[in-house]
Amino acid sequence: MDCIFCKIVAGEIPSTKVYEDDKILAFKDINPCAPVHNIIIPKEHVLSSADDITEDNAEIIGYLFSKIPHIAKLSGLEEGYRIINNCGTHGAQTVKHIHFHLLGGKQLGEKLC
Ligand code: AMP
Ligand code: ZN
Repeated sequence: MDCIFCKIVAGEIPSTKVYEDDKILAFKDINPCAPVHNIIIPKEHVLSSADDITEDNAEIIGYLFSKIPHIAKLSGLEEGYRIINNCGTHGAQTVKHIHFHLLGGKQLGEKLC
């Protein structure tokens, strides 16, 4: 599959890893829009977007979210942070391997859109 994030998982494309275990990977976004901008992904490409989540495959998403406080701590985000998922065309999703943006390191704006 021609997927940038699968290639990052496989080590075929370099990344700056922030956290890794057997199920998920967090790495620095190549084009950060905040002092801290990490991408968190399930390693397995089962879900292309949030729109693919069902009761049967949601466990990995719960697991990923259970690790967010730890990843935020590793990233120095003691004052809080924002988690964003872009989904589909109107969501401006560019990489079709489900991922969550972890943003922080400064006071973020109140407006989401
Ligand atoms: P999205 O628009 O939600 O699909 O976000 C995709 C994100 O992946 C963007 O913020 C990109 O900057 C980021 N990205 C794309 N290629 C890479 C890469 N090779 N390493 C790290 N981040 C990347
Ligand atoms: Zn993938």
